[in-house]
Amino acid sequence: MDGLNLDALLLTGSANIRYLTGFSGSSALALVTIREVVLITDARYETQAVDQAGAVARIDIQPQSLWAGLWPRIAAATGVHVIGFEASHLMHRDFQRLLESGSRWQWRPTTDIVEVLRERKDPEEVAAIRRAGEMATKALESVLSRVAPGMTELAVAGMLEKALRDEGSEAFPFPTIVASGPRSALPHAGSSVRAIEAGDLVLMDFGAQAGGYCSDVTRTVVIGRADARQREIHDIVREAQAEALAGVRAGITGQAADALARDYIDRRGFGARFQHSLGHGLGLEVHEAPRLSRQADAILPTDAVVTIEPGIYEPGWGGVRIEDDVHLGHAGSEVLTHFTRELLEVA
Ligand code: ZN
Ligand code: ZN
Repeated sequence: MDGLNLDALLLTGSANIRYLTGFSGSSALALVTIREVVLITDARYETQAVDQAGAVARIDIQPQSLWAGLWPRIAAATGVHVIGFEASHLMHRDFQRLLESGSRWQWRPTTDIVEVLRERKDPEEVAAIRRAGEMATKALESVLSRVAPGMTELAVAGMLEKALRDEGSEAFPFPTIVASGPRSALPHAGSSVRAIEAGDLVLMDFGAQAGGYCSDVTRTVVIGRADARQREIHDIVREAQAEALAGVRAGITGQAADALARDYIDRRGFGARFQHSLGHGLGLEVHEAPRLSRQADAILPTDAVVTIEPGIYEPGWGGVRIEDDVHLGHAGSEVLTHFTRELLEVA
């Protein structure tokens, strides 16, 4: 805040508020000044706010509007004139409130102030992601033997989500993707009522949440016996992922990381079929900084946790993606998710 010439910072992004205060409720404002952090929330969260954030923030419970609580707080803080707000996390109607709050304060848009802090994980954060990764791989382990032809994608997604809950997952970082047959060629397909058939590729992309932190894992299997084409494509994706897992580290750019897998897939002739980026940061949110893509010229910082998820998608035929989570530690990178990357034939 000093460097940005801000006297205070108003946080409205819930993941950023959670990162700085520990509060995980869905409705809150946080005002950060040089002296203190004030967490303003509503009466539903009174106990929770004190439990989670009481040690680091002053808790202000507002019966009606959180904003009604904000103005007197700012007025009471001495020396506060220039206040940053989060340009990426403020509704337009709330921006209007800032404009209407009078000329006493100068509001300045900011981006990524807390997001940048969140990129580097401390050991407790890495441990939470590792736990979430174990929940995800154990859930997959328990479900694969029960997948059979005739089940819908949604039914398999339901089994997987039940298993994630059984393993202790607090929530689903994103709706589980189960995409079968030709639908596996849609990199971000939702699960559908399509019934899985013998011979299908089935792509499963899912994650768990532990202590607020997310994991994100993908495996692609074949129902019954894999044919030569399925094996060939899966081999290329697995090799590309192995190259990236071996080479990704803190200190290289997101672009260079992306190229580790992309160059391999290019050389094998499928470059045009790997249309998305190699990976993304993982933490309180399932997609956060840093990015691993052709456009990402920023350096991957020490202690980031990122996904490595190359894929090849042939419209009308199907697709293969393999995704794991990696901690870019000071002494080297460590893969946090462990499940075979060989092509599994199930059912
Ligand atoms: Zn994923
Ligand atoms: Zn991902």
